[in-house]
Amino acid sequence: MKIVDVEALVVRAPGVLGAYGGPYGALVRIATDTGLVGWGEADSLPEVIRAIIEAPYQDELMSGIRPLLLGEDPRDPRALWAKMWKGTSQFGRAGAAVQAMAAADIALWDLASQAAGVPLHRLLGTARRDRVAIYATHPLGATLEETGRFARALRERGFPGVKFGWSPFGRDADQDAAIVATIRAAVGPEIEVLIDGGNVFDVEGAIERCRRFAPHRVFWFEEPLQPEDIAGYARLTRAAATRIAAGELCATASELTRLIREGGIDVVQLDLSRLGVTQAMEVARVAGEAGVPCVNHTYTLNLNLMASLHVLAVVPEISLFEVQGLDNPLRDGLFPDRPRPFGGFLAVPQGPGLGSAPDQETLMRIRVP
Ligand SMILES: [Mg+2]
Repeated sequence: MKIVDVEALVVRAPGVLGAYGGPYGALVRIATDTGLVGWGEADSLPEVIRAIIEAPYQDELMSGIRPLLLGEDPRDPRALWAKMWKGTSQFGRAGAAVQAMAAADIALWDLASQAAGVPLHRLLGTARRDRVAIYATHPLGATLEETGRFARALRERGFPGVKFGWSPFGRDADQDAAIVATIRAAVGPEIEVLIDGGNVFDVEGAIERCRRFAPHRVFWFEEPLQPEDIAGYARLTRAAATRIAAGELCATASELTRLIREGGIDVVQLDLSRLGVTQAMEVARVAGEAGVPCVNHTYTLNLNLMASLHVLAVVPEISLFEVQGLDNPLRDGLFPDRPRPFGGFLAVPQGPGLGSAPDQETLMRIRVP
């Protein structure tokens, strides 16, 4: 079995509101001489990802992803991860180059598991669960009243947890506490409330927010600091009684390992469309040794969501699984068969491979040439 094509596709839907803003996507399609096709995606600037996939071979340390994968057998994604890491090492090792590798890596695992005729999670380990409890992420309203309305609507849709965050958090401690009080009052005592700090706090401000939010029972406080601020996370996690979650912005296992081991974070967020499956499994091993649960970060399309379900099916300890609370016409149009929540859960996919591919007609209509 040989790879005969690697293609990066940029999708955009101008003027349509997405999960939290612009609807965009960077898809990678890997085709083989057997007719099997694998799909992956990166949550990154799509045109940058396309350039990294399609760049030519320069030398053994500096190549686009496509020339590194053509002619290879896709059934050993870990070996191909090592080849991509070396082949991009003079411009990569972080950021967009690794995010582009993540998209290719998801597509390779999709192919390897399709070729084996098993669901992707079967190649990663023993399934520990066949469903995951979910929470819905939603932007804050412009006013407390609107935020309360959004939170009540999510409760009525049956989500066992809700997450709100980013702007206008961080301007004023009283206002931040009032926002959290509004969400708690709107959803009632039974539903978990998660708060996303949106990387805008300093350590003292984050400790203060944990203290002010405590009466409203926040399930976790996410990314109050910049992900590079390992020393800050270490101080925060020692001082705060609230669970601290972080990691969604990281593209490498080494960044996430430092957040777990040195930063002392309580929950590690894996964004499969930045890390890839191969690295996510490495981070899961580190998290397991530290007793830290893994969760997904899924902001973009269904390929990320499905890859997250497969990885989190085999990881020893997980927590609530993220789904988006807002409709996204681009995502929903590309993936009409995406899994639907039932009773506050999502099912782990059981068909061969990743279990998801974009609708070709929609894709051809919205792809950016
Ligand atoms: Mg977040």
